[in-house]
Formats: sequence, structure tokens, C-alpha cells
Amino acid sequence: MIPSTMQDFPLDVAAILRHGARVHGGSECVTWTGGGEPHRATFAEVAANAGRLAGALARLGVRPGARVATFCWNNQEHLEAYFAVPAMGAVLHTLNIRLFPEQLAHIVNHADDQVVIVDDTLVPLLARVVDRLPAVEAFVVVGDGDAGPLEANPNGAPVMRYHELLAAEEPDHPWPAVDERSAASLCYTSGTTGDPKGVVYSHRSTFLHAMAVLSASLVGITEADRVLAIVPMFHVNAWGLPYGAFLSGATLHMPGPFLQPEHLTEFIARERSTLSSAVPTIWSAILAYGETRELDLSSLRGGTSGGAAAPRVLLERFEERYGLRIIQGWGMTETSPLGGMAFPPPGVEPGTPEDVDWRMKSGRVAPGVEMRIVDADGAELPWDGTAVGEIEVRGPWITGSYHRDPAPEKFHDGWLRTGDIGTIDGRGYFQITDRVKDVIKSGGEWISSVELENHLMAHPAVAEAAVIGVPDPRWDERPLACVVLREDGEATAEELAAFLRDKVARWQVPEYWTFLDEVPKTTVGKFYKGPLRKMHADGAFKVERTG
Ligand code: ADP
Repeated sequence: MIPSTMQDFPLDVAAILRHGARVHGGSECVTWTGGGEPHRATFAEVAANAGRLAGALARLGVRPGARVATFCWNNQEHLEAYFAVPAMGAVLHTLNIRLFPEQLAHIVNHADDQVVIVDDTLVPLLARVVDRLPAVEAFVVVGDGDAGPLEANPNGAPVMRYHELLAAEEPDHPWPAVDERSAASLCYTSGTTGDPKGVVYSHRSTFLHAMAVLSASLVGITEADRVLAIVPMFHVNAWGLPYGAFLSGATLHMPGPFLQPEHLTEFIARERSTLSSAVPTIWSAILAYGETRELDLSSLRGGTSGGAAAPRVLLERFEERYGLRIIQGWGMTETSPLGGMAFPPPGVEPGTPEDVDWRMKSGRVAPGVEMRIVDADGAELPWDGTAVGEIEVRGPWITGSYHRDPAPEKFHDGWLRTGDIGTIDGRGYFQITDRVKDVIKSGGEWISSVELENHLMAHPAVAEAAVIGVPDPRWDERPLACVVLREDGEATAEELAAFLRDKVARWQVPEYWTFLDEVPKTTVGKFYKGPLRKMHADGAFKVERTG
């Protein structure tokens, strides 16, 4: 053995910040203001403000390891906190602004947040729990809006203004050396299938994930890109785009609170965004908006969709109408989040049905991540594209436990059990067919709720479809299709069942149907099946039976 001669140089957030400020100081963070001229700041200005913010936080008593929370939309100040907090050695805790008050209070207390930075427009939401945050020592409000409701906090924690605090500080903060394995940021899972759990990212995992985001195997952003980050910075690091932008020099487009299709499409058209990332429900909303008007999406060279399975029609219609190839990615809070992206293999002609087939995969295993599928006994299954099992992953940006909760049931011999069920083929393309908790177990066989939803949403009369398993005396469980029809759409349960019959095996076709005005969504816009199961158990909706 000879020792390596390489420098033991720490992979930390300060290094990302320094690179963006120095090499790409002229790249921009552009925040949408709802119309008119957006707010612009260069990366050099963002970095200077990050230095000032770190100075202000240190003055407030924030020491290495302390948690500083953000309760913010995607905007410039949130980006400044993304750099200042980890780079000063503290831990950035991004709070999901859409959590229920009980969950929000619980995670602020569980994480022991010392300071909370909050957008003025979100003060009323935070104020709902302000009497339940005993450990918070200061609130820092971004913007000039009313902060009065926070003053009522029972601890008498001061409520300060972000811009006033920064004005008193110097831009050149002396960033300390940090251990690359120490905590940089903290995010709780959105709790689609259980209570939120805290995932703590290290500097090293953050750096490596950001490098992976830059690679062409994942997002492949370059300095020539203008990236519209629709995915929230309050949940799983906006898929690594903020750090990826500072490493690559890509301009960041931040929508703020304006997530409606009219704003997003105007932003794209005016600022000529080249890439965007969003969950399928946002992409669908943009598509629906474009059905009655002309949209200029010509600047987009690509889009990524993740967080839930994208319906096939979504990929097809975007390509037909706008020439936009949406690529699906897979990941979770526990995986930083990117674990794979479904770029078709070389030789596949864009725009062909075969191309869409590949893009309907959930992803291809990302470089740096290892994946396997296992059966119910934990035995590894083959990579043959047909064997179905639970997906397990490991790697330098995959969590190995949870914050103050080792949760051994979530791990298996050092691999994270994802709770996702799927197949993987010989080239590492994987397909999520369901979540363990959503798969329908009918007579000893599994039915994929995702597959049924996909087929149903391809029916011209159907706007949304969520399929859940409901108890059945003969088969244990059978699928119940919860369908939302388009405003101008008409279809009966019999017609929809007939529509499915030549698409899936006969025994998989649901015989239980209900029609709803809307499918409940989670805080990050995914179909939320828990409330549907409860509504069914409570007899809250009428169920029809087809033959
Ligand atoms: P939560 O687990 O509370 O939903 P996450 O944001 O961590 O919060 O969600 C991760 C989950 O989202 C994955 O485990 C998977 O079920 C789902 N998911 C993510 N990307 C995809 C995709 N491309 N296709 C299907 N499901 C996906």
C-alpha cells in the first residue's frame, strides 16, 4: 500500500459558494415578482449577502451546529440562506410551508431550530404555530410586510428584518473550515405515507450530489442554461438546482409564490428559461392552461419531472405541442434527492413511441448510487426488467439513518429500503410500479395502482385518476378507481372499464369506481391516497360496481 498523494480537501458548501462567486459572479438569480420587472441579483451579490447573513446570524448567537430554519418560497434570500447557513458551519433546516400546523410545530421543535427566517407573505402561516415554538430565539422576516403576528410569540423572541440585519454587516465573511462529514442541512420527508422523518445532509453529500446534478447523466446544467426551479427549495434542496447552479454558472429563475401556470409560462417566455423541473401535477397544469391559448415555451430545451410517476399523456402532449422532451427522474428526501434520470439510451430517435417508452421509466441508476431490488424475504432479484421487488439504494448521498431516529426497519444490510416497488433491467433502467403501501394485493397477485392511473389518465374524458386498494371478501383487496372527469368530459364507469380491458390483464381492471371533483394532494402536489382510503372507509363517497 502506498498513500495517495491527493490533498485531503474538504467537499463543503463554502467551496460551492466560492466557486459560484468567483468564476460565475455575473450569472444571475432572477426572482419573479408577479409581473413587471423581476428582481435580479448576480451570484457575486448573492455571495456578498450570504456573507452578511452569516455575520448577522453569528451576532444573533448562531454557533456551528445550530439549526437555522427557513420558511420561504424560492427566491434570492432563500438562496442566500442556502449558502450562508451551512458555510458558517450551522445547519439549514428548510421547512415545508405546506405542512399542517401540528407537523410544522413538531419538526421545528424536533430539529431544535434556533432562528427562523421567514418570507413576509408567509408570516400568517408561521404565526399559527408561533406559540408552540419554545426554542426559537429569533425570527428574521424577509420583506417589509406585516410581521406583527410573530411579535405575539410567548418567549419574547425578537422579530427582526432581514434587510436591516444585512445592512449592518460586511460582505466578506471568514468562512470557517468545516468537517465535510458534518451536517449542512436538514429536511423532513413530506410524510406521504407516514409521519415526517428528518434527513440530515452532510457537506460532502451535498457537494457530491451537486456535482452529479451537473453531469449529463442527471440534469446536465451548464452556464448557458437558465433554470426555472419550480420544485420548492423548502423540500429536498430543490433537487440540487441551487448548488448545481453555483457550480455550473447557470442562471437561476425563482418563481417565488407565483406557481400558477399563467405566471410560470410568462416567466419562461420573458426570461427565456432553458430548463425547468417540476412535479407532474405542475406540468399537467401548464399543459391544461395551454389548451386554450398560445404559449411560448420555445426557449425550453428540456424539462424534468419527478416526485411521482408522470402519466404517459403528459410526456406525449408536451412533445407534440411544444417539442419539449420531459425526462423523468426518481428520488426521495432520503436520497438528496436524485437517484436516477430516465434518459433514453443512444440510438433511440427522439419523438418516436419508443422514445416515450424509455422516458416512461422512472430513471436509470445515477452514477454514484447503487441500487438493487429484493423480494419480501430480502433476497436479491435479477435485473431482468420483469422481476418486481422493493428497491433498495446506497451511496454517498443516500441517508443511513434519520435525525434522532435510527429507524432500523428502514434499512437492510446498509441499504436504504425505499418503500418503492419496481423492476430494473440489465442496463440499470428502473420502473417504479408502486409504493409498498399503495400496491393492490388481489388474490395473492399484485396490481400496480400507478399503471391503472396512467391508462385512465390517457382517456380523453379523464383529468385525474387515483386508484386505491379496498377490502374485498374474496380477493383480499380490489382496485377502486377514483376518477375526476374533465370539465367537458363525459364517461361512465362501464366505459372506462371497457377502455382498460385491452390495456391491462382482465383481472386487473377495477370493478369499483367513484367520481370525485378532485384527488386530494400532498403538501408537494402528489396524489394523497390516505384521505381517499379514509373517505372510502367512512362511506364518504358513492361507489359504483361494474360487471
Ligand atoms: P414522501 O416520501 O413523503 O412522498 P418524498 O418527496 O421524499 O416524500 O417522495 C419520495 C417518493 O416519491 C419516492 O419514494 C417515490 O415513491 C416517489 N417518486 C419520486 N420520483 C418518482 C418517479 N419518477 N416515479 C414514481 N414515483 C416517484
